[in-house]
Amino acid sequence: MKKFILPCFALLASLFAQAQTADPFSLPKLDYAYNALEPYIDAQTMETHVTKHHQAYVNNLNKAVKGGKYEKMSLEDLMLRASSTGDAIRNNSGGHYNHSHFWKILGTGNKFDPNSEVGKAITGAFVSLDSLKTLMNQAGATRFGSGWAWLYLTPEKKLAVCSSPNQDNPIMDVSPQRGIPVLGIDVWEHAYYLKYTNKRGDYLAAIWNVINWQQVNQNYKDALASPLLKVIEKDAWTELKDFHKVMAQTFHPAEEGDLKPIRSRSTEMLAKAKTLQSGKIPASFNTPAIKSAIDKLVKGSEALDKLVGKKKSSDKAVTESLTKLHDVFHEIQGLCSE
Ligand code: MN
Repeated sequence: MKKFILPCFALLASLFAQAQTADPFSLPKLDYAYNALEPYIDAQTMETHVTKHHQAYVNNLNKAVKGGKYEKMSLEDLMLRASSTGDAIRNNSGGHYNHSHFWKILGTGNKFDPNSEVGKAITGAFVSLDSLKTLMNQAGATRFGSGWAWLYLTPEKKLAVCSSPNQDNPIMDVSPQRGIPVLGIDVWEHAYYLKYTNKRGDYLAAIWNVINWQQVNQNYKDALASPLLKVIEKDAWTELKDFHKVMAQTFHPAEEGDLKPIRSRSTEMLAKAKTLQSGKIPASFNTPAIKSAIDKLVKGSEALDKLVGKKKSSDKAVTESLTKLHDVFHEIQGLCSE
């Protein structure tokens, strides 16, 4: 009997271990002790913040993606889709990313170096570190309710400051300011209430004593080199996104033989193409090839709209015209990813 039970137990234990490790997201290990940031951030706040708040975001994110189409996606990909993943994934992917970022940019012994890459960029963008602190503290202090203050790199590779509500951040497609975080400060009450009670301004003034500038410099260099920056730049091109939406909602039904959507929306599609043509093209995509492809898209949309407007346009002719337009759109998409 014993011979039988032992292997069974081992099998169960290994299955259990597999189930345990199957969660895609986990709490990162802190590089310092909970009391390392005293007296500016107290040990109890740090411990609760990491083991209760951050852990809850990790647990809830794992729960929210479990068994669904988002289970295999990276944290960045989830955030890029924040507008469509639902609140649980939006809040908890942001909560996990933002806090993982926050623990790393905190620390002691790494002073601001004006000659570092980020030091020079800060002086270039904001004149001095003091004016950056003023801007960040203002962004954090004026954020109503809970949120974050951010120093982030824009797709134009410039440093900028913004704040975000809840657990949003500039990577997310729901954010009006897009880019990659370089230095984020948590301004939720749970980040400071035990020591500073309601005095968010005092906490913001104190936190500059425990910024790990070596990490901030690394974040800046990583952001500059990150392929994510171009992904965000394209994602933030709303005119292209708007055209894409109408194209997807008309072309796919047409492929199935349903021409009603395109017959009722060809004028809207033409309007979106013209808005794309007259709008500002993001710097990385402002090339003669892409511009001329957009001109072709407008001409094709005009031709399609004219055809649909005719009393006796055949389904075959409309399908052909739409398919040609779809090809032109994909030509633009292809040029953008070169
Ligand atoms: Mn927090």
